[in-house]
Amino acid sequence: MSGAAAPSRTAAELARADGHSAHNYHPLPVVLASARGAWARDIDGVEYLDLLAGYSALNFGHAHPRLVTVAQAQVGRLTLTSRAFQHALFADFCAAVTGLCGKDAVLPMNTGAEAVETAIKLSRKWGYDVKGVEPDRAEIITFDGNFHGRTIAIVGFSTDPDARGGFGPYPPGFRTVPYGDIDAVAAAVTANTVAVLLEPIQGEAGVLVPPDGFLAAVRALCDEHGILMVADEIQSGLGRTGETFACEHEGVVPDVYILGKALGGGIVPVSAVVADWPVMGVIGPGQHGSTFGGNPLACAVATEVVRMLETGEFQSRSRELGEHMHSLLATLPADVVTQVRGRGLWAGVELAPGGPSARTVCERLLARRVLAKDAHEGTIRLAPPLVVERDEIDWAVEQLADSLRPTG
Ligand code: PLP
Repeated sequence: MSGAAAPSRTAAELARADGHSAHNYHPLPVVLASARGAWARDIDGVEYLDLLAGYSALNFGHAHPRLVTVAQAQVGRLTLTSRAFQHALFADFCAAVTGLCGKDAVLPMNTGAEAVETAIKLSRKWGYDVKGVEPDRAEIITFDGNFHGRTIAIVGFSTDPDARGGFGPYPPGFRTVPYGDIDAVAAAVTANTVAVLLEPIQGEAGVLVPPDGFLAAVRALCDEHGILMVADEIQSGLGRTGETFACEHEGVVPDVYILGKALGGGIVPVSAVVADWPVMGVIGPGQHGSTFGGNPLACAVATEVVRMLETGEFQSRSRELGEHMHSLLATLPADVVTQVRGRGLWAGVELAPGGPSARTVCERLLARRVLAKDAHEGTIRLAPPLVVERDEIDWAVEQLADSLRPTG
C-alpha cells in the first residue's frame, strides 16, 4: 500500500461526481477503485479495511474467488432470458434457496425494496384469497424505526422524516407500532391484519436488537390470529449475526423470508421472497414479475452463495469473531460510548451526546484507513465482511478507540 500519493485525484473525482450526480447520498470522501476480501484500495493507492461490507451485501468479502469464478463463467455463457423462457440455472437456484430456508417456493427479484414490495403484495393477496379479508381492507403491522427500502409504499410507513417526508400521498393499509413492544403489536391486530412485517434486528435504525422473546412472541401472536410473520432478513440474514437467519436466535421460523444483499454475493443485485405453497400459491401467471428477477447470472451467483452458507463456516466465523469484536468494543470508554448493540459481526456503537458525531468519528476512521458508516447521528454501524481476520478486528477497534479521542 502506498499512502504517499497526494489526495488530489480523490478531491477532483469527488467534485466531478458532485456536479452531475443527484445528492441523495453524503458519501465519505474516498473514491475506491479495487478491492479484495476485507480490503479496498482507492484511486490514490491507499488501502482501507472495509467495516461496512456494502451494508452486508459483501458478507463474503470483495471478489470472493468462488463467486468471481461462477460469475465470470456465466457472463460468457448466458446472462438474461427474461422469465418468458426458462433457463438452465433456474431450477438449481430455486432448490438451493428454498432448501436454505426450509420453505417450498421462491419468487426472485433484484433489489431489497422490490422483494419487500413483493412480500407486501403476497401478504395482501393471501389475506384476500386465503384468510378471507374483504377486498382492499388488508392491514400490515410495521415498526417504528423500520427500514425496508425506498419505494412509495415502503417510505409511506417509514418513521424516518428524511426517508418519508415530501413523497406523499402514500398507500394506506399499514399500522406502525413501537419496535419490540409485543403489547403494542397485539393491540394493533384487527380482523383485517394479514401480516406483521419486521426486521429481526433493525439495521438502519442503528443495529437495534429487540428484547429477548419478542420474535417468539410475534410468532405466537401470528399463529393465534392467522397472520403471516414476514421477516425482512435482507441485512440481518445470510450469516451476518452468526446464524443463517437472525430469527434463529429465538428459534423462530417466519412464514415468509425476504432476502437480498448478500444473496448476490456483492456482485449482482439478487433478492427473493421465500414461503410455503399455501402462501406462495396465491400468485399466478401475470400477477407479479420482473424482467431481471431470477436471471441466469443472478442464479449462478446466488446458488454459489447458498452453497457457501451450507457448510456453516461463515456463520461460525461471524459468531466467533463477532464475540471477539463485541468483547473489544465493550472496553471502549463509557463516557464516549454509551452502548454497543448487535449480534455476530454486526454492531451499533452508540456515542454519548455532546461528544463527536458518528459522522466525525467515521471521517477520523477514514483518515486511519478504516471504512465505517454512521447509521444515525449518534450511531456508528460496524459490519465487516465475514472473511475479516481476528487481528484486523483488533487493529480496527484500536483505530476506533483512537478516533473517539483524537490525539491530534
Ligand atoms: N430491507 C432492509 C432490512 C434493508 O437493510 C435494506 C437496505 O438497506 C432494504 C430492505 C432495501 O434494500 P435495497 O437497498 O436493495 O432496495
